[in-house]
Amino acid sequence: MSLRIVVTVKYVPDATGDRHFAEDLTVDRDDVDGLLSELDEYAVEQALQIADEADDAEITVLTVGPEDAKDALRKALSMGADKAIHVEDDDLHGTDAVGTSLVLAKAIEKAGYDLVISGMASTDGTMGVLPALLAERLGVPQVTLLSEVSVADGVVKGRRDGDSASEQLEASLPAVVSVTDQSGEARYPSFKGIMAAKKKPVQSWDLEDLEIEADEVGLEGSWTKVDSATERPARTAGTIVKDEGEGGKQLAEFLVGQKFI
Ligand SMILES: Cc1cc2nc3c(=O)[nH]c(=O)nc-3n(C[C@H](O)[C@H](O)[C@H](O)COP(=O)(O)OP(=O)(O)OC[C@H]3O[C@@H](n4cnc5c(N)ncnc54)[C@H](O)[C@@H]3O)c2cc1C
Repeated sequence: MSLRIVVTVKYVPDATGDRHFAEDLTVDRDDVDGLLSELDEYAVEQALQIADEADDAEITVLTVGPEDAKDALRKALSMGADKAIHVEDDDLHGTDAVGTSLVLAKAIEKAGYDLVISGMASTDGTMGVLPALLAERLGVPQVTLLSEVSVADGVVKGRRDGDSASEQLEASLPAVVSVTDQSGEARYPSFKGIMAAKKKPVQSWDLEDLEIEADEVGLEGSWTKVDSATERPARTAGTIVKDEGEGGKQLAEFLVGQKFI
């Protein structure tokens, strides 16, 4: 039987662009360019490698996000995933991590899965909690923060590297794993991959499709609330030391003044 792999991928605001909060203190996702979270590229890569090793495997990439989040799905499809699911609904606006995990879990259950692969954290929220929340909601084992992962005979195995030791972990399928940025360079989509992605199926689901009520998600259904947010002050100009014979001394005085030395 085919190994069904679901990879969760997030569409995030481009960190090199100008990012803002909207009036309701949610991240402004409408007026910014976005992209597939870089850390989720590693999850797609590991799924592709596991699928290569398996006799028969199918990779579905899944995102919860606005219309433009399709760009993240296209990128994952052009890397080699087989099909995509986009969950989009106006009532999702303001959904926090707990709500997002509900939506993702319902979508994963509806899609059918043996293995869920997530990134270690998104590059915007960076909470790193979604894989654990997903495993809890799905009622399956979680093996997180793997820098090496493989699947054989209905078991997922992996290595988690800590500061002082590396652990070898395994869990029976179905399971949720997350992979780190040490798991292996993510491939670039080839021209052939980009062209093929245009023809791959992208399914769209809304909350009704997932039998989720509007008050379970959105700002109203969220367990967390942002009370206030202030923009970080603009960076001030640095101090330039011109070396006219006294440069070294001035540099040392500057560092002493800043308590660096
Ligand atoms: C339109 C929209 C509005 C939102 N508004 C808010 C808000 O107002 N307040 C708030 O707290 N949160 C909001 N969220 C949710 C938030 O962006 C995160 O998805 C969620 O809080 C998880 O936190 P994180 O990104 O830190 O996840 P992490 O736990 O850091 O993510 C780990 C992994 O989980 C997966 N993942 C995470 N999010 C998604 C996703 N959306 N789709 C697919 N895979 C995912 C990825 O594989 C990722 O690498 C919103 C999301 C969307 C799409």
